[in-house]
Amino acid sequence: PLVLGIETSCDETGIGIVRGTRLLSNTIASSMDEHARYGGVVPEVAARAHLEALTPALRAAVADADIALDELDAIAVTSGPGLAGALMVGVGAAKALAVSLGKPIYAVNHLVGHVGADLLDASGGPGHAVELPTIALLVSGGHTSLLLVRDLVSDVQLLGETIDDAAGEAFDKVARVLGLPYPGGPQIDRVAAFGDPKAIRFPRGLTQPKDMEKHRYDFSFSGLKTAVARWVEQRQDAGEEVPVSDVAASFREAVVDVLITKALAACEDFGVPRLLLGGGVVANARVREVATERSARAGVALRIPALSLCTDNGAMIAALGAQLIMAGHEPSTLSFGADSTLPVTEIQVAR
Ligand code: ATP
Ligand code: MG
Ligand code: FE
Repeated sequence: PLVLGIETSCDETGIGIVRGTRLLSNTIASSMDEHARYGGVVPEVAARAHLEALTPALRAAVADADIALDELDAIAVTSGPGLAGALMVGVGAAKALAVSLGKPIYAVNHLVGHVGADLLDASGGPGHAVELPTIALLVSGGHTSLLLVRDLVSDVQLLGETIDDAAGEAFDKVARVLGLPYPGGPQIDRVAAFGDPKAIRFPRGLTQPKDMEKHRYDFSFSGLKTAVARWVEQRQDAGEEVPVSDVAASFREAVVDVLITKALAACEDFGVPRLLLGGGVVANARVREVATERSARAGVALRIPALSLCTDNGAMIAALGAQLIMAGHEPSTLSFGADSTLPVTEIQVAR
């Protein structure tokens, strides 16, 4: 089926068009620059930016895919989780489009969309299917979630998630402590390349034996962030220079170590030798490196979709919509709304 996907859950306005598992276009407009001076995504700023970017992005995606809107079989849209005001812009636009074109609409889960992104990756070959079951690690500015996916349209389980800050959020906050601009992830990555990851032993949240019983698949990054801030402050108070590269490299190592250790523990516990990564933090060079090395050692097949499909985008939403159609799911009724806390088990919002 030919499906257009609309994604507005955070600061990316994404419009993507797919035919089944074939990617036809993927237009992304980000309001990241507008949030830079606040050091994080400001919900109302993001919502207003979606309103401005949506129509141009829609036009570009349709032109890129070289299709006409009335050829579409369906519209898919992210209905949650995410920022309520931001989601509402996409949901409103999707409903208007569906009604005016007389096409069915599928309201879908953003996090499951990230898993669906893997379907579109050309490196998987034509007609690539996400190999299932798989463990999926989704790491972004708003999420750090570990999923067990048995079936993309009917069986997604949340194993664990962050109990405080998301991994990307931790990168952004630590960058601030180090005087680096927003978004912090790429900045930390850049300076960490020159640092020693073993220079400082920062805490690995929720990895103590007792935590591994109760919070085996959960994450915590706020203690790490505080530890870095305290370490930097102590240096500054003593009038010493802060070795920014070493701090960045040591912090990055702590985050990556926890992420990959827990993801691979899930692979082993559930006997699932497959790991799929998604979310903006996957851009991190060390995340890719450590995931690649340790997965190989553990005999786990690793999938990392192209970065343009890892960060928030409309194509992954369209791809999930297409899967729902192919599995025979009914479209959503037009009464669904935006649900900022939509649980991952709710793959499609029916109404
Ligand atoms: P959501 O959480 O709803 O998916 P988001 O906009 O927060 O949305 P993304 O756009 O996927 O998520 O990712 C942005 C986050 O990824 C930011 O926190 C940013 O710092 C982080 N990030 C980007 N590049 C890197 C990198 N090289 N290393 C670490 N973190 C990175
Ligand atoms: Mg973003
Ligand atoms: Fe996302």
